[in-house]
Amino acid sequence: MKRIAIIGGGISGLSAAYTLEEKRQSGTPVQYSLFESSPRLGGVLLTDRVDGCLIEAGADSFLTEKPWAADLCRKVGLGDQLIGSNDAGRKTYILVKGKLVELPDGLMFMVATKIMPTLRSPLFSVRTKLRMAAEWFHQPHKAVEDETVAQMVERHYGPEMVELLADPLLSGVYGGEASQLSARAVLPRFTDMESKHGSLGRAVLSASRKMGAVATTPPRPFFSSLKNGMQQMVSALVAKLDARSLLTSAPVQSLIPQDNGWTVCAGYQTDHFDAIIIATPAQAAASVLASADDDLSRELGEIRYSSSVTVTLGYDEKVRASLPPGFGFLVPRGAGHRMLAATFVHNKFSYRAPANRALIRCFLGGTRDEEILQASEEEILRIVRGELRQIISLNAEPLFARVYKWKSAMAQYVVGHLERLQRIEALRQKLHGLALAGNGYGGIGVPDCVRSGAEAAGKILAEMGMWSSA
Ligand SMILES: Cc1cc2nc3c(=O)[nH]c(=O)nc-3n(C[C@H](O)[C@H](O)[C@H](O)COP(=O)(O)OP(=O)(O)OC[C@H]3O[C@@H](n4cnc5c(N)ncnc54)[C@H](O)[C@@H]3O)c2cc1C
Repeated sequence: MKRIAIIGGGISGLSAAYTLEEKRQSGTPVQYSLFESSPRLGGVLLTDRVDGCLIEAGADSFLTEKPWAADLCRKVGLGDQLIGSNDAGRKTYILVKGKLVELPDGLMFMVATKIMPTLRSPLFSVRTKLRMAAEWFHQPHKAVEDETVAQMVERHYGPEMVELLADPLLSGVYGGEASQLSARAVLPRFTDMESKHGSLGRAVLSASRKMGAVATTPPRPFFSSLKNGMQQMVSALVAKLDARSLLTSAPVQSLIPQDNGWTVCAGYQTDHFDAIIIATPAQAAASVLASADDDLSRELGEIRYSSSVTVTLGYDEKVRASLPPGFGFLVPRGAGHRMLAATFVHNKFSYRAPANRALIRCFLGGTRDEEILQASEEEILRIVRGELRQIISLNAEPLFARVYKWKSAMAQYVVGHLERLQRIEALRQKLHGLALAGNGYGGIGVPDCVRSGAEAAGKILAEMGMWSSA
C-alpha cells in the first residue's frame, strides 16, 4: 500500500484527493492523508447565507470555457446543480471621470469584435479609436522576451486601453497590475495570436467566425456556478472522500525527504509517506520545503501573492430598483478610490438574492493596497459605503454587511513567471515523490486549480507505476 500526503485542503488539494480516492476505490493500492492548517476545508471557497441571500466570501463562479471545475462537479453528483450567469443582463461599467460608462458590446478583453458599438462608445478617445483601426494592419510579431501585459496592450492600442481596461480587468482577476503581470503567462492566447496574425482584432474575429460556423448549440453562459454556492462543490467533494483521511487544524511545518519517501512534520507529530502533493499557495510550499531543497524553496518563495478583501452589502427593493442594470463596475486606479470593482450579484446570479433584496459585492486590496488588510471591518465598511455614495449615489443604510479578508491569496504571474515554472519543474523532478498544485503555477481560477490537483495526483501515481496515462 502506497501512502500519499496532500498538504492544503483548498480546491486544489481536494481535487488531488478526489483523484486518489477514485483510484483507491477502483482497487489501486493507495491511501492518502490530507493536512489542512485551518479548521475548515475549501480554502478561499466559502459561502454564507444571510437574510435569504447567498454570499460568496471568495470565488463566486468560474469560467465556463475552462471545463475542469464543471466536470468535477458532474463527477461528484452536482451536474443538476450547475447554473450559468444571467448573460442577457451582462453589462459592465468602467468608472471614468466620476461617471459609470458602459463597456461597448463585443469587447473581448481589449479586443473589439463589433465595430459600431466601439466606435459609438464614449469610453475611448478618438485617438484610441484610431489606434484600434490601425491595429487591424499589425503584422505578425513574436516578442523575443516576455513582457508586461501593459507593454503588449499599449503596443496594440495605446496607453488609454491599459488604464481603462487592461489594468482594471487584471486587478479584478489577479489583484495585480498590468505593468507587472506577464503577457505570456496571463494572456497566452493573445500572445499566440499576435505571433501568428499580428493584429489581435483580425485574429479574434477570424476565431469567432470559425466558431460561429461550427456552432450548433446556443452559446454557453460566460460564468458557471452552483445553486447553493461554491461551497456546495467543497461539501460534495468532501462527502466523496474518506473522512478519516481528512485532517483539519493540522498545519504542516516541514517536509523532509528520505531515501524511501518523505517525513511530514505536523505539530508534534511526524509521519512517513511515500509521496507528497503540496497544494498550498506557493509561499507556504516554499516554507515547508525550506529544509528539503534551498533552490526549490527560494524559487517558490519568489512567486509573489497579493491580498484581497471582499465586502458584501445587502439592501432592500428600493435600492435594487435604483441601481444601474448589469453585472457591476470596474474602478481604474487613476479614479482615486480604494475599491477595485463591484458586482451587482442580484443581476449576475439572480437567484442569489430574493426579488426584494439587492446584493452588492465589492473588491478591495491587490498589490497596491495591501494596507487594507490592517483596517478594521468598521473602517473597511466606512470606506466602501463612502465610495458607493460617490460612485452610484448610494446613501441607504445596508440591511446587512459582511467583510472577508484573504491574506496573500492571489498569485501574481509577473514577467518571467513561465521561466520560473520551468526552473521549479526541473528542481521538483530531482526530488522523488513530490508534486505541486495550486494557483501559484498554471492558472489562478478555480478550473485551473481543479486541473492542477488532478494532474499532481496523476504525476505521483504515474511515478509509482500506478497510472500509465498520467
Ligand atoms: C476573493 C477571491 C475571489 C476569487 N474569485 C474567483 C472567481 O470568481 N472565479 C475563479 O475561478 N477564481 C476566483 N478566485 C481564485 C480561486 O478561488 C483560487 O485561486 C483557488 O480557489 C485557490 O485554491 P487552492 O486550493 O489552490 O488554494 P487555497 O484556497 O488558498 O487553499 C490552500 C489551503 O492550504 C492551506 N495551507 C496553507 N499552508 C498550509 C500548511 N503549512 N499546512 C497545511 N495546510 C496549509 C490553507 O489553509 C488553505 O486552506 C478568487 C480568489 C479570491 C481570493
